[in-house]
Amino acid sequence: MIQDIAPKHLYNHYESAAKPEPQSAAVHLLGKRLLCAYNGGELRLPTVAELGEGEYTYLFRIDETAYFLRRDGAELAAEGFAYEDIGVWRGAHPRQTAFAAVTAFHLASWYAENRYCGKCGAENVHDGAERMMRCPVCGHMAFPKIMPSVIVAVTHGDRLLLTRYANRPGSTRFALVAGFTEIGETAEQTVEREVMEEVGLRVKNIRYYKSQPWGISAGGLLLGFWCEVDGDDDITLDRAELSEAAWVSREELRQTYTDPGVALTGEMIAEFIKGNI
Ligand SMILES: [Zn+2]
Repeated sequence: MIQDIAPKHLYNHYESAAKPEPQSAAVHLLGKRLLCAYNGGELRLPTVAELGEGEYTYLFRIDETAYFLRRDGAELAAEGFAYEDIGVWRGAHPRQTAFAAVTAFHLASWYAENRYCGKCGAENVHDGAERMMRCPVCGHMAFPKIMPSVIVAVTHGDRLLLTRYANRPGSTRFALVAGFTEIGETAEQTVEREVMEEVGLRVKNIRYYKSQPWGISAGGLLLGFWCEVDGDDDITLDRAELSEAAWVSREELRQTYTDPGVALTGEMIAEFIKGNI
């Protein structure tokens, strides 16, 4: 999956004393466009030396490479680099650069949303010790936003429930039931509610599988769950959200499903195909 970069390691601790070095990696984003060199699936970010002087904020480190966010709202020019849709991370290599890009996008989105205090409107300043934006007027503290959501694999004997989103034109990718956790509910209750809302089914035997950071939704933390349909297996589709939902047999999936990709959804479908669930 996207976060599986071993033996390399993401050190996400905020290093307040870190200064951009010429060889540090520089991340510059204009909305969802990332300044990078992307050729034949290979993704490269500019170094601080290549991007030039400016205001940099420390992000994280992957092994010995420090990543800095270039805080600039204007388009920048660096020879050999161009702005690409952040979506290129999905198939890009090396894997640690793809993971760095999507994680940097998560943090860049959070910094962009927290320039001003959400409570009194004054301009925030970065805390000196930890990754936190602090209001110098009212003292309000803003920490990076992480939003839990669930990915749900509903099984019924030898069949798995697959869905397809309605609001993503051109998408041929099958998905699992998914949705954000809402105020006041547990992750297990999110599973029950989302399955009922999207496909009208009751579920039982809810088991946690694995989690995955999902920075591309600017704060997502995906929690994967398995469960079984409880009683009636007739699907009632929520057409506002889904264009399709169907029970697909393990054998049919084995013959048609190819690439588990970098997402938790793909890994869970692959685990089902292998008979591990
Ligand atoms: Zn304030």
